[in-house]
Amino acid sequence: MKQCRSFIRLGVSLIVLLFPCVCPAGNYSNFVVSVYCRAYEVRQMTNLVWLSNVWNTVGSQLKVDKVYLETHRDGVIPDRETIAKARQFFESRGIRVAAGIATVANERNRYQSFCYSTPADRRKLKEIVEYTAGQFDEIILDDFFFTNCKCEECVKAKGGKSWTQFRLEQMNEVACDLVVKPARKINPKVKVVLKFPNWYEHYQGLGYNLEAGVKYFDGIYTGTETREPFNNAQHLQQYQGYLIFRYLENADPGRNGGGWVDTGGMRYADRYAEQLWLTLFAKAPEITLFDLRQVQRLMQPSDRGAWQDLHPSFDFDQMMASVRPDAGTSATPATISRAAGFVFDQVDAFLGQLGQPMGLKSYKPVNSVGEDYIHNYLGMVGIPIELTPKFPTNAHTIFLTESAGCDPDIVNRIKKQLIDGGNVIITSGLLRALQNQGIEDVAEIRYTDRKITLKEYLHSFGGVIEGKSGITIPELDYITNDAWALASGTAAGIPYPLLLRAGYAKGYLYVLTLPENFGDIYNLPPEVLTQIKRALTQDMFVRVEGPAQVSLFAYDNHTFIVESFLPDEADVKVAVAGGFTRLRNLVTGAVTAGEMEAQGSDRFGGGDPRMSFTVHLPPHSYSAFAAEK
Ligand SMILES: [Zn+2]
Repeated sequence: MKQCRSFIRLGVSLIVLLFPCVCPAGNYSNFVVSVYCRAYEVRQMTNLVWLSNVWNTVGSQLKVDKVYLETHRDGVIPDRETIAKARQFFESRGIRVAAGIATVANERNRYQSFCYSTPADRRKLKEIVEYTAGQFDEIILDDFFFTNCKCEECVKAKGGKSWTQFRLEQMNEVACDLVVKPARKINPKVKVVLKFPNWYEHYQGLGYNLEAGVKYFDGIYTGTETREPFNNAQHLQQYQGYLIFRYLENADPGRNGGGWVDTGGMRYADRYAEQLWLTLFAKAPEITLFDLRQVQRLMQPSDRGAWQDLHPSFDFDQMMASVRPDAGTSATPATISRAAGFVFDQVDAFLGQLGQPMGLKSYKPVNSVGEDYIHNYLGMVGIPIELTPKFPTNAHTIFLTESAGCDPDIVNRIKKQLIDGGNVIITSGLLRALQNQGIEDVAEIRYTDRKITLKEYLHSFGGVIEGKSGITIPELDYITNDAWALASGTAAGIPYPLLLRAGYAKGYLYVLTLPENFGDIYNLPPEVLTQIKRALTQDMFVRVEGPAQVSLFAYDNHTFIVESFLPDEADVKVAVAGGFTRLRNLVTGAVTAGEMEAQGSDRFGGGDPRMSFTVHLPPHSYSAFAAEK
């Protein structure tokens, strides 16, 4: 493996020279648009009449800079002659061409992977890679670069290791010996990019190794496809379309090549649009649409959300009307291509005004587990999260969930952050994981076996707030006058902490109690969510207050986006610190003056007084602003 590493490093430096940067220089100012073509469709491209018809429709509705031509999926391998014809077809139209490989034996059989303990399968993958590298200078691996094989050979090879450990090691070896090395041997110029799936909490369990992706490949790519959040076994919330790109970007800054979106789980067209713009709000330099077959799907009346009469950001009727036939021809029916093209035209107009994304820094080590996808639930209630696999060393406030407990040095890191005068916010799950592991040196807060079902909530100015009852939380015991509850729910008239704060040296440790069902975070009253946000986003220039399922995306040049995922209209309050007095809408240019918040209204921040603005959001809609003085 050592030999492989030095080989790879040399390769990487050569590649850096050959591919100095990914600069959008195509149809849009801020990103490149790509369409992925599966091996099934590439195989059909031998018929240029068919291809020409398909492309005339797609190209009339969507501006495309690049296509990926897949050379393998499910044993389907288009021949060289077909690939050459297809390539010539696209290049003659000014469209860049790269290759894709789906390393899947049979996608239709529950994503059956190759068996990397079997010589025949290993040989097959190596041949596919060599075949592809002989024809292309850029290859992306679609998100099947894992193993779920549990055949007798694999069981034997695993031995006493856990499946996670065995598969991580096996896929490391496969990455090196069967993909990157053979590709380079055939084509020293080749750039091999590894795309990661949307299930980032579970990568390691199937050998999808972010560490290896960064180390061995020339770049990584992010599956930002997030589906419908309800009744889906994957637990993917809409905010993940943004967060996962940021997480992978922070794993390999500057080498996360783009975001990848499909139409899976799309019950209404706004959900597809959301995935597209969230990928771009995260500053992806390229967006890939999976795939040529899906983008041809006709838009249906049933794609029009029930709220469309309120003219949301993705205005279905406007989108449908935007398909304009050339003079003398009849209108082409709108397809998914037009939905995507409509979104791209809309967001390209203001994306360039946004700075670098920023948020509450949260550390999730590579290959860690615990409190799956929790960051997205918090993102969905307006807490901007900047998730990173590296411990943040330059942030005043950091947020740690149970997965951070996989770092054996985490307690020392928490103490150092506090001694240096910073804040650390941990979840109840991390508190449980670190119980008797040293966290009690910071504050003697205990995670008990008792569960409390909340009835009401304490208001920050006294009295109680009615809220949805029935939210169950773990009870945390704490030493009064050493730790203080900043937010509490009540049951039988007794308060139980939702957010605790305890001093340690110059800093503060906060403990955020998570409901047993993360979905209940959306059922907390807005006033309680605001109490939590005042602590968690205390370092940020902007805070959003209002109902759950309204997210905030903030940037380092005092621009931000507020987005509602609610099916109804919502008025939200935006509180801005730093002496800004007005908001300028980045799309319309409209300027709104704010109102100074009453002094002392911020019970915990004690920071700058904030200017307050009301923003009205139609359902499933966003607004982008610059805070100005
Ligand atoms: Zn096997």
